[in-house]
Amino acid sequence: MVETTDVLIIGAGPSGSVAGALLCNKGHNCIVLERDIFPRFSIGESLLPQCMEIIEEAGMLESIRDMNFQKKDGAVFSHAGDASTFEFTDQFTKDAWTTTFEVVRADFDNALAIAAQDKGVDIRFGQEIASATPGADRVTVVAHDKEGEAHHYQARFLLDASGFGRVLPRLLDLNVASDLVFRQSLFTHIEDNIEDADYDRNKILITVHAEHPDIWYWLIPFSNGRSSLGIVAPAEYFEGMKSDPETLLKALLAEDLRLQRILQYAVYDTPVKQIAGYSAKVSKMCGDGFALLGNAGEFLDPIFSSGVTIALKSASLAASVLHRQLRGQAVNWDDEFAQPLAKGVDVFRVFVESWYDGSLQDIIFSNPQDAKIKRMICSVLAGYVWDDSNPYVSRARPRVQALAQLCINH
Ligand SMILES: Cc1cc2nc3c(=O)[nH]c(=O)nc-3n(C[C@H](O)[C@H](O)[C@H](O)COP(=O)(O)OP(=O)(O)OC[C@H]3O[C@@H](n4cnc5c(N)ncnc54)[C@H](O)[C@@H]3O)c2cc1C
Repeated sequence: MVETTDVLIIGAGPSGSVAGALLCNKGHNCIVLERDIFPRFSIGESLLPQCMEIIEEAGMLESIRDMNFQKKDGAVFSHAGDASTFEFTDQFTKDAWTTTFEVVRADFDNALAIAAQDKGVDIRFGQEIASATPGADRVTVVAHDKEGEAHHYQARFLLDASGFGRVLPRLLDLNVASDLVFRQSLFTHIEDNIEDADYDRNKILITVHAEHPDIWYWLIPFSNGRSSLGIVAPAEYFEGMKSDPETLLKALLAEDLRLQRILQYAVYDTPVKQIAGYSAKVSKMCGDGFALLGNAGEFLDPIFSSGVTIALKSASLAASVLHRQLRGQAVNWDDEFAQPLAKGVDVFRVFVESWYDGSLQDIIFSNPQDAKIKRMICSVLAGYVWDDSNPYVSRARPRVQALAQLCINH
């Protein structure tokens, strides 16, 4: 039997569930094929204010608010005793969201999936894509359930929201090498037992290694007394190290006095995971009968927590183009989806590259800081990378380079 629907979506992560909800809200039928059974672990726990706009657009805000996730209202950057704080209340972008959440992704993704189902999205958990053939007139997909049984689908369009699964990039040979350095991350969840009076639970803490500026740590607090703790370093840094991931993580933690103090009573009760070479890129984001959402398209780097925001923006742009296409209107996926998405991704790219070449760190830790410029940078850190009125968006690279030069010369 072949089941037919308007839109097939691969993956029920944030981009898949939100794209499904947006399309169902506009009256289209959607089936989401998700390999795993939810709730399931995922990395990517610190959201940006910008993504709240899209959660709201999809009508899912109440579902997320009801989860009582940890409020997030800014970011603290720390380096060898220096600290620099960005408050999302102090932004350049007009009418911007000033708060968002730090989320346990198993719960966040599950809440989004349930909210999508409530809107009529048909999510089939435990179905893994075996083959997918997109085409201008019709898309065909075969998925296997956990018992190995094949399920056949046909649709008018296919959205690949498979994240690091990268289903269509693999099947259609769209993967190209990322320009970014091959990095590795170690991470875990801890019972944090933080008592430090100077520590602000409403902010993500990014700590730069005292001697290696390309190594950094994240501390993302949750609302249940637990935290996500992770380290990012060039993969070659770990080469030849014989220690297990937990010993490595703890050894690197011991190299930062402030983090060590904050986490002095922490209980390490969860196995340390690792992921390497996560930066990804494709030769094209869309083609006949398909488009790539979120990480299935491009993933830069975790440093500015941009992943979920880009995933949701891609869902919003794609749902809008697809709605018009399904109503019979002429659309241009490159002009209306790939290029507008890339504009914001490229701003994050400038920030990521400048972080690792040190120039953005010079800016972030400079003292004194110009209040107006800081507000512009804060809006980028809040995810407002599609706000062209911000000079650090419209002319990101020259602006960051010029400012870094000023900071060095100061
Ligand atoms: C170390 C690290 C830290 C990060 N930290 C952050 C952060 O703090 N904030 C942030 O915003 N982002 C962060 N990210 C990025 C974030 O993880 C992703 O950008 C985000 O999850 C992308 O969402 P998505 O919807 O595209 O894909 P995903 O969330 O990956 O969802 C994809 C779904 O597709 C399913 N799937 C995969 N293959 C198949 C298949 N063959 N068939 C059917 N289903 C399939 C998967 O099971 C999954 O449920 C981080 C990434 C890394 C590597």
